Amino acid sequence: MVWLFVVAIPLAGAEPRLELTKQEQSWLQQVEVIRLCTDPDWMPYEGIDEQHRHSGIMSDFHQLWADMLDKPVVIQVTDSWQQSLQYMEKGKCDVLSSAQDVASRRHYLTVTDPFIFYPFAVATQPENPFIIDLMPLMDKRFAMVEGYAGIEIMRKRYPEIDLLLVDTASQGLKMVEKSKVYGFIDTVPSINYQTLKHGISLIKINGVLDEHYAMSIGIRKDLPELVSIYNKAIAATHDADRQRILNNWLSLTFQYHFDYSLIWKMLLGASVLLALFFYHYFMVNRHNRELQQVNRQLEALSHSDHLTGIPNRYYLHQVFENELKRYQRYRHSFSLLIIDIDHFKRINDSYGHVVGDEILKKLAQLLTENVRENDVVGRWGGEEFLILCPETDAKGGRALAEHLRLRISQTDFSLGTMMITASFGVTDYRDDEVLEETIKRADLALYQAKHDGRDRTIVF
Ligand code: GH3
Ligand code: MG
Ligand code: MG
Repeated sequence: MVWLFVVAIPLAGAEPRLELTKQEQSWLQQVEVIRLCTDPDWMPYEGIDEQHRHSGIMSDFHQLWADMLDKPVVIQVTDSWQQSLQYMEKGKCDVLSSAQDVASRRHYLTVTDPFIFYPFAVATQPENPFIIDLMPLMDKRFAMVEGYAGIEIMRKRYPEIDLLLVDTASQGLKMVEKSKVYGFIDTVPSINYQTLKHGISLIKINGVLDEHYAMSIGIRKDLPELVSIYNKAIAATHDADRQRILNNWLSLTFQYHFDYSLIWKMLLGASVLLALFFYHYFMVNRHNRELQQVNRQLEALSHSDHLTGIPNRYYLHQVFENELKRYQRYRHSFSLLIIDIDHFKRINDSYGHVVGDEILKKLAQLLTENVRENDVVGRWGGEEFLILCPETDAKGGRALAEHLRLRISQTDFSLGTMMITASFGVTDYRDDEVLEETIKRADLALYQAKHDGRDRTIVF
């Protein structure tokens, strides 16, 4: 076993510290280092050089995360990707630099959230037509590198596919060049890098497929804390850093100098494809974040009344449903109060709608501040409010209503001599009835209160 080479010494304070739970922190404290297994031969993603140094896109990402974690991450050098997988299975490594969630690995490997996506591409001889879908080419043979998760993805999408598994990307590309296979499937950066490195010229990237390679970090299955820690690091990775790392390694592939004009054309094509792809990726990413934001706002809106900010009618219905379930399980009684402001039209007429709105807000606040923590106050509509009181019988409901009613009539709403009063209808939930029946009873009680002269509580 070739032992550990330190790749990433944490630069304390270089990155914002992650907000870790106690459990995650104590897990990190009890390990001295995190052992990282890699693919030794997968440039530009990653590789191990003669001096046992890790380099490539993955190396830069792991360096960044080691800083965030403030924990040394050390490379466990292996001869091949296959050996790295074996090391993970045997517990000789904690983390696999990049991995996909594929069935055959699930008994020893968990993956984090993805941190980058790459589409698969097909390299063929240049005179072949452009490929968007592999389906019409199922009579052809394709090469892929053995052991990569992409194979399972392709086989799932194209069950009929005739795949020849090769040891390395350059081997696959050379087979395309010599017409031994029709195409070589891998990601764009990988094909790009290998064709340049090995001077393979009679090939072009002839299509970018719909299938993506979503790159996550692989974590030993028995280390769940580490999964959540890395997920936090991935979430905290800035797009700018992501872009910088990718650019670093993409531009590097352009620093080779070959005379073959075809290579430049190919590179140009590949870089256009890549640029398009990254543009698409970042736009999708940004839109997703905006969508999340809008969804959060929508969710809050759908729960709360826009004027008063307290729960709206829709949300009250949900609270009812939950309370009903509790009742069915524990038989704990609950009560309903419906409150309607008396002669509210007069307030609007005398002071205008804006002042009317202010009164509604103040009243919502008053009600909310004067109920118990478990009571739910919502706006039922217009100038009507509703309060649901768990664990409360009709007698308790009346007491609360009277308390609130007096509070309202004694409060100065800054309307000069005009005072605000409200009428209350109260009832309790009764066995086996539907909620509409309970609400209907509270409404009838309220109607009675209005009829009897307002500013009073009637219990049905
Ligand atoms: P009662 O004592 O019988 O309840 O008399 P009322 O005037 O309060 O009753 P009514 O139901 O006839 O009128 C309710 C008024 O509440 C009519 C409506 O303009 C006003 N209102 C409803 N929603 C709002 C609102 O959001 N803002 C304002 N300012 N007024 C509202
Ligand atoms: Mg009304
Ligand atoms: Mg009213």
